[in-house]
Amino acid sequence: MYGNLKDYLTDEIAKLHEQKLYKGERIIESPQGSEITVKGKKVLNFCANNYLGLSSNPDLIKAAHNEIDYRGYGLSSVRFICGTQDRHKELEHKVAEFLGMEDSILFCSCFDANAAVFEPLLGADDAIVTDSLNHASIIDGVRLCKAQRWIYNHADMRDVEETDTTTGKKGKGLERCLKEAKEAGCRFIMIATDGVFSMDGDIAKLPEICDLAEKYGALVMVDESHSSGFMGKTGRGTHEYHNVMGRVDIITTTFGKALGGASGGCISGPKEVIDWMRNKARPYLFSNTLAPSVVGATIKCIELLSSSTALRDKLEENTKKFRSEMTAAGFDIVPGVHPITPIMFGKYDNCSELAVKFADRMLEEGIYVTPFSFPVVPRGKDRIRVQISAGHSTEQIDRAVAAFIKVGKELKMIK
Ligand SMILES: *Cc1c(COP(=O)(O)O)cnc(C)c1O
Repeated sequence: MYGNLKDYLTDEIAKLHEQKLYKGERIIESPQGSEITVKGKKVLNFCANNYLGLSSNPDLIKAAHNEIDYRGYGLSSVRFICGTQDRHKELEHKVAEFLGMEDSILFCSCFDANAAVFEPLLGADDAIVTDSLNHASIIDGVRLCKAQRWIYNHADMRDVEETDTTTGKKGKGLERCLKEAKEAGCRFIMIATDGVFSMDGDIAKLPEICDLAEKYGALVMVDESHSSGFMGKTGRGTHEYHNVMGRVDIITTTFGKALGGASGGCISGPKEVIDWMRNKARPYLFSNTLAPSVVGATIKCIELLSSSTALRDKLEENTKKFRSEMTAAGFDIVPGVHPITPIMFGKYDNCSELAVKFADRMLEEGIYVTPFSFPVVPRGKDRIRVQISAGHSTEQIDRAVAAFIKVGKELKMIK
């Protein structure tokens, strides 16, 4: 009896279109890279999570091919039945070493890792203290867990109660939440945060978070999806960038962004935590193991990044160039150091439409960028989010900046 549901969905989908919230997909007819083919036309890609330009790297492709030849296509099993190869263990050790942690456990995605990480460790007597702008997968992971929760205003470390400037909701600072969790007599308290927040590219205040964690006896969990491989001077992540390696207890991260871009993720942390996860984490126990091709290529990727900082250095150089040239051109950019560079439209009339129109014009100019509007970002914070890659050549960045300036003048945003 699909009939009623069909009518309902047809209406709801029509509403999404009306509200301009429907998410269409642009079809790419080439491998991922700094230059891609969209509708038969070559364009420069400035919106991928391909931070280190490794998505179609020849060495990683070769490693994936080799792995298929030597370890097969798939394992048709979860890890604990007959889905663990020597290479899974090798990858787990290599990732842990790269991140500076004791051990790791693999998942098919970081979404799964975040869905897995809280529930086995924390129960109704415990507390999770979580940033209001944390990634959807952390929010879902927290929901799956019985722990009491405190949501702190984004990046607000203080012992205060006030309105969150980013969400517009009344809330509290981190220290206030920790105090309350302590007063409620919680057994374990875990602070959960993104290392880098994906909409503004801002970095979690880890030194202050770690200080507060020590003051209140809390654990620190950081999702490093937008930083593993390139943040910090050897690319280990925001804990290296902020010089708090050894003070973060648990890291989750993805292999689907800088670390090759295919798929997969992990939890890294103390060996007891990882051991417990292998026995209790539901997305690990009840979901198929990571495919050999991904395992082989990710091992190759970690080896590459452990032996040279050339790619993260290039990314840093490209990011500085793009950010400074766009700022000089008069665009309103959220300041920072991360390759996520938000070009803000809030100060112009009809900013949502303007951002959409801008992105369409950019595509005509051969530059693929994406506009973000409510509800993905708060109202009035419409933006085009550019993501810089080590795979971009200097000439490609010049072309992107030139196109931004051309379209910006045309739409009367800059002089
Ligand atoms: C992308 C992202 C994820 C999801 O990673 P997948 O491996 O694609 O599931 C989780 N957390 C954060 C912060 C992310 O940016």
